[in-house]
Parts: sequence; C-alpha cells; structure tokens
Amino acid sequence: MSYAIETEGLVKRFGATVALDGVDLAVPSGCVLAVLGPNGAGKSTFVRVLATLIRPDAGVARVGGHDVLRDQQRVRELIGLAGQYASVDEELTGYENLLLIGRLLELPRADARARARELLARFELDDAAGRPASTYSGGMRRRLDLAASLVGRPSVLFLDEPTTGLDPHVRSEVWKLLRDLVTDGVTVLLTTQYLDEADHLAHRIAVIDHGRVVADGTPAELKVRAGAQRLEIRPVDRAHLPAVASIMTDLTGAAPASGTDPGLLTTPVTDPAVISAVVRRLEAARVPVQELAVRLPGLDEVFLAVTGHRAAELELEGSLR
Ligand code: ADP
Repeated sequence: MSYAIETEGLVKRFGATVALDGVDLAVPSGCVLAVLGPNGAGKSTFVRVLATLIRPDAGVARVGGHDVLRDQQRVRELIGLAGQYASVDEELTGYENLLLIGRLLELPRADARARARELLARFELDDAAGRPASTYSGGMRRRLDLAASLVGRPSVLFLDEPTTGLDPHVRSEVWKLLRDLVTDGVTVLLTTQYLDEADHLAHRIAVIDHGRVVADGTPAELKVRAGAQRLEIRPVDRAHLPAVASIMTDLTGAAPASGTDPGLLTTPVTDPAVISAVVRRLEAARVPVQELAVRLPGLDEVFLAVTGHRAAELELEGSLR
C-alpha cells in the first residue's frame, strides 16, 4: 500500500512543552484523515511539521514518500495548506490573490490566469472575483483560502480547522468541495473540533491527546472499540415504559436507563441478534413502539473513552479561543 503521509516516532518540543510525543501514523493515498483532539493536543504542530513549516526534534515524517527534513523542497511541491495560516491578501481581489500565488509557484502567466479563473468558478467566487478580499464574508474568504491552497494542484492537502466558525450551510459546501477533491485522488488531512465533520467526511480518524495518537481507525472501527452497542426503544405510549424496561432487562441482563429523553429507554447490548427476541416479546405483550434500534456509540462516546473529555467540552474550548 502506498501511503501519502507516514510518521514514525515524531517528536516536537517547544521548550519544556512536548507538543508531539512520538506520533506514529500512516495515511493511505486518496483518503481523508481527520485529526481530532482537545485544544493544545498537538494537532496544529503535527500539520506544521508535515507541511515543513517547523522541524521535528526526533522521528521520521514522509509526505508522498519524501522525508520532510531531507526532501523539503519535494514535499513543498506536493502539498497545499489552508486553514489557520490565511494566505489571503486583504487588499488584493480574489482573482489577484490566486494569480499572485500562481506566479509565486512559477506557473507561466497564461497558466496562472487560467488556473485562477478555473478555481474561482469551482468555488463559486466568479461574481466576487474583482472585489478586494477585505469585502468577502467569512465563508467566501475560507473558500478563497482553500482555492489558494489548490493553485499548485497539490496531491496532499493539509487543512487546519477548515470550517471552524462557518455556518452549517457553508460548512456543507466546503465538505462537498473536499469530497470532489478526494474523488480526483487528492489525500486530505484535516484537523477539526467538530465530531460530525469527522464522521461525515473522514475515511479515517486519528484522535490525538497530549501529543500522542490515542486512537486511530475508521469512524465505524472507533465506535465499535469505544464500547457496546446500544439497544434503544421508544414505546408509543409512555405508560408502557415499565413493561418495556422489564423486557429489556430480561433479554440483556441490564436495566435500561432513560437519559435526557424520558420517552426513550437505552441499554448496552453485546449481541445485536437480541433485537428479534425483543420484537417477539413486545408483540406478545402487545406494546406498540415508535422507535426500536441497535445503535453504535456516537463519536462523542469514542472521544470520552479515549481522551477522558467529552467532545462538547472540546467544542466549548474551541469556541472560547
Ligand atoms: P492544537 O492544534 O491541538 O490545539 P498545538 O499543536 O497548537 O495544539 O499545540 C500543542 C502544544 O504545543 C500546546 O501546549 C501549545 O501551547 C504548544 N505550542 C504550540 N506552538 C508553540 C510555539 N510556537 N511555541 C511554544 N509552544 C507552542
């Protein structure tokens, strides 16, 4: 298998702070890896090392097979970077920004112009192409920043919190653009504080905490690892809750809990086949149900299991930044 990104024992210190404490990761080509983690976990440092912006203190990192220390120039030719490093010049128009980057990348003038126009169209910025970037909304600026990272046709794209602060509509637009890039064969590594972003977009997720990878896998693998699946039942009539609870206890061996939603009973199950027995018992007891499901735990539970923090705390920390 060819890996677009590979790291072994990657270490980065800032004085006494160990920002990366031995990161081992391998990201196959053409996939989206979401790097999740609480504030200060080392996500941005990881991206900055891979993008050759800072040098690691120990370990190995390769991008597209090239070592970030020995083949810095080759790595830079392969990658695009967007997010918290806003490459956009406020005083230039959208078109001029992209043209400038094309020229800095030494594209011939005609190619730089064509690439700028193509990207403006793709990111639906053609109407605003002639306006200074300072007049752009947050979402437009983010799209321009993303477009800027693509001028050099990168095969590996690093995005540091690409959708933080965007409204849900713009976020889903950015997600669509990223999916299209992956269809074209681009490998994307993004850091995010939004679990739903990782869940919707990523083929693989790495959770980083205190500079270490504490969990790594597909979203489904991580959910399975985080714990048992849950059986959820919502009777049509709340008067039936005790009867349903007793059936669930009989069949799973654990008394169900009702959380914030008082009409829904939930209990862990190890064997999803229990569901057919549940259905038979509910029918025999003549209890109509509105909802009946076996669910994987959410990424929120994954996060709690591997980091000891709730993701809501993570999002809160993020919003307080
Ligand atoms: P994240 O992106 O997950 O929020 P960072 O990679 O920004 O985390 O930071 C990881 C740790 O390294 C934090 O403790 C942070 O304070 C520290 N750090 C990051 N960059 C620097 C720097 N340039 N100088 C000193 N400390 C830094």
